[in-house]
Amino acid sequence: MADGLDPLSFLRFIVDRVNVGIIVVDREMEVLLWNHFMAVNSGKEAHEIIGTNLFQSFPDLPEKWLKKKINSVFILKNFAFTGWEQRPYLFQFRHNRPVTGSTDYMMQNCTFLPIMGENNDVQAVCITVFDVTDISIYQNQLKDAMAKLEDMSIRDGLTEIYNRRYIESQLAAEYDRCHRYGGELSVILFDLDHFKNVNDTFGHLAGDEVLRSVSKKLVEVLRTSDIPGRYGGEEFTVILPNTAIEGALNTAERIRSEVEKLEIVHDGRGIPVTVSIGVTQMRDSTPSHEAMLQEADLALYQCKEGGRNQARAFDPAEHPDLDSEQ
Ligand code: GH3
Ligand code: MG
Ligand code: MG
Repeated sequence: MADGLDPLSFLRFIVDRVNVGIIVVDREMEVLLWNHFMAVNSGKEAHEIIGTNLFQSFPDLPEKWLKKKINSVFILKNFAFTGWEQRPYLFQFRHNRPVTGSTDYMMQNCTFLPIMGENNDVQAVCITVFDVTDISIYQNQLKDAMAKLEDMSIRDGLTEIYNRRYIESQLAAEYDRCHRYGGELSVILFDLDHFKNVNDTFGHLAGDEVLRSVSKKLVEVLRTSDIPGRYGGEEFTVILPNTAIEGALNTAERIRSEVEKLEIVHDGRGIPVTVSIGVTQMRDSTPSHEAMLQEADLALYQCKEGGRNQARAFDPAEHPDLDSEQ
């Protein structure tokens, strides 16, 4: 072996060069080892920390929790772990990543390893501190991206209100809930009047603008518990949980009059917009959530027949054939 080099100095070299924090404490929480990683990140050199009480030197540490953790290693003689997802960090170190917005501090995974002495007793506990800031940043970005994707999958691209698939699943769920536990449920279905004329006269882009303006107004008019969606091309739906037909018709009339008042200007010309609205309420005999949409559609059709720009409630007496036999 080369002069002056022994396995212990190799070990010391490695302990100081690895990019992991290594600390050893005894039963009294006195620090026995403090490696280079810990010195660089804490700004406190080994000679300042070794021989001191860990909690006196670092009063910001979660003393109660950490003591319990370390003591459990002494007692159980078992390895322990804490991940950044449960506890973002043990030591509050700034990280050196560009500003990410997600965290200012180094995220840490920590392990607690028993160091066995003679008599199979735990003599000391070795704490390792892994810098997992990058992982946490990527994971948070992934989580944000997933949430955005999930939101996109239930929204209509043009108007950003809910899409047909989502509306149908929500209506099915509301229908089942009312069927089982009772309660009131109404649905509004409306369609823009003579919308083909809008496209033909002002162009398709102006038509898209109208659809966006109507959606925006719709969201303004509704309560937060109402669920608005774009059902198809120029057809919209609103699910109104806990709402009977009178309230739903009221809302429908408000939608009608607010849309009529919209001032949408394209190339210096105002685009007139009105809607026809069908409304229905779930009854004990309503066979399915699809039937509610069908009923609202029938009422909507009557509005179109009756001259458009109006709201009507579906009248079950006019369509006894639609109710299920009970
Ligand atoms: P009615 O009063 O009977 O409902 O007449 P209408 O002209 O609105 O009915 P029709 O079903 O004949 O026309 C619907 C039009 O809506 C035709 C279609 O091109 C247009 N449309 C559907 N989706 C979109 C869209 O996303 N953007 C635009 N600009 N137009 C759309
Ligand atoms: Mg239509
Ligand atoms: Mg139409």
